[in-house]
Amino acid sequence: MTNTVFVGCTPEVACGPSGAILGVGNGAREAAGRGSRRVDLAGRALAGLGDAHLHLEWLARSRRAVDLSGARTRQEALRRVEQFAAGQAADAWISGSGWFNDLWTDDPRFPTRHELDSVTGGRPAVLTRKDGHSAWLNTAALGAAGFRRDIADPSGGVVDRDSGGEPSGVVREAASALAQRMVPEPPDDAFTADVAAVLRDLARLGLTTVHTMDSARLFRALQRLHDAGRLPIRVVWNFPQAELGAAIAMGVRSGYGDERLRVWGVKSFLDGSLGSRTAEMLDGGGVTGIPQGELVELVRRCAVAELNVCLHAIGDAAVRRALDALQPFGRAWRLWRPRIEHAQCVHRDDVPRFAASGVIASMQPLHAVSDREMVEKLWPGRVEASYAWGALARAGAVLAFGSDAPVDSAAPLLGIDAATTWRRRSGWYPELALSRAAALRAYSRGVAYAAGMERLTGRLRKGLQCDLTVLDGSGVVATVVGGTVVWRR
Ligand SMILES: [Zn+2]
Repeated sequence: MTNTVFVGCTPEVACGPSGAILGVGNGAREAAGRGSRRVDLAGRALAGLGDAHLHLEWLARSRRAVDLSGARTRQEALRRVEQFAAGQAADAWISGSGWFNDLWTDDPRFPTRHELDSVTGGRPAVLTRKDGHSAWLNTAALGAAGFRRDIADPSGGVVDRDSGGEPSGVVREAASALAQRMVPEPPDDAFTADVAAVLRDLARLGLTTVHTMDSARLFRALQRLHDAGRLPIRVVWNFPQAELGAAIAMGVRSGYGDERLRVWGVKSFLDGSLGSRTAEMLDGGGVTGIPQGELVELVRRCAVAELNVCLHAIGDAAVRRALDALQPFGRAWRLWRPRIEHAQCVHRDDVPRFAASGVIASMQPLHAVSDREMVEKLWPGRVEASYAWGALARAGAVLAFGSDAPVDSAAPLLGIDAATTWRRRSGWYPELALSRAAALRAYSRGVAYAAGMERLTGRLRKGLQCDLTVLDGSGVVATVVGGTVVWRR
């Protein structure tokens, strides 16, 4: 069993056969000792970067779906669907995601089923909007889902309708989730292979740990990959609220698992999204995903069961409700790390409450870049309270950064830029920018802390795992997890 020392990078880092760091900087070679293996990595070695919020299942599924992200017109979106559909079997379902009508320069109105009918050749099509909260369906898919003129909207969902009451093609929230569940699933082995490919891609982007918000199906795929030694990076799995009863019945606690695959918390939705106009705002509007009484009960059950909560809250009213629900629990037990996911709009009065209650702000810097125009349009007067990581950091909140991929790119280097220099460069409330050091911390130590892993990873310290992201002027040179190079340029 030999030690390894990563040389040629700044700082140099030595680690033992278990992947634990033996020394950093000047003392690294000495700490590794004679006969140690040398691995040359030219560049700057950072504590491994992580992503506190993404969707591995959705990323895996998007490998077999049409990608509409970045389409600047509805004509282009339709052209991409047409091309994709032409390559599919006549009875296949068409799935896809990434459309974003707010960006369409030819016509930013929500699209219709008839437009989609014209390019899908009779195949049912379900296309998820960029934010995941709405879907665009054609007539075949609307019919298969049972969305009809004479049938009321499903509870918690909205079916957009034309003046005659016929579904017009866009469905929201619970109706969108229902439509997405109708798309037939790929077989297990194909799905597992897709997940493996996604994890390799994430390693290439410099990520050493990701927290995923996903289903039991994804968890099974991750376990299969782990058994086969095919998890290149660390994965923290958070499960949907629907599974909470089962988790409590089983007695599983946050932190169960090992250094590579870890069970963490339950994800609960307090509201919708900015783009779908379903964020819950203090001045009115939005959708309430979970009423306050139920939320308080959910948090109490989780605290008793020693399970963490990841509370999705976008609008300032939802963020306030999350803080209200979490506040009584303070520091419930050693690994209690309550998190608010997104926290895109935080009322000034609520900013200090994060630190006061030990609530982590799990934010996605690239969302600010994507959403800027929309925020100015939909939240006038609330712009300086939006994506306010600078204010939260100054108030002492722990930040854990991520991407919400595939909503935005999982590349942490893009996120770091969005959190730091982009705000100054674009002149968009530059006082909310973070320093580069603070942004790096939110992508490493913050991500580790948000899953109770700060004694395992997140910093370059003797005794912690040797997780490195090595950079040079043109990007990621290498990704190291537990002392093993999992990707290099
Ligand atoms: Zn998400």
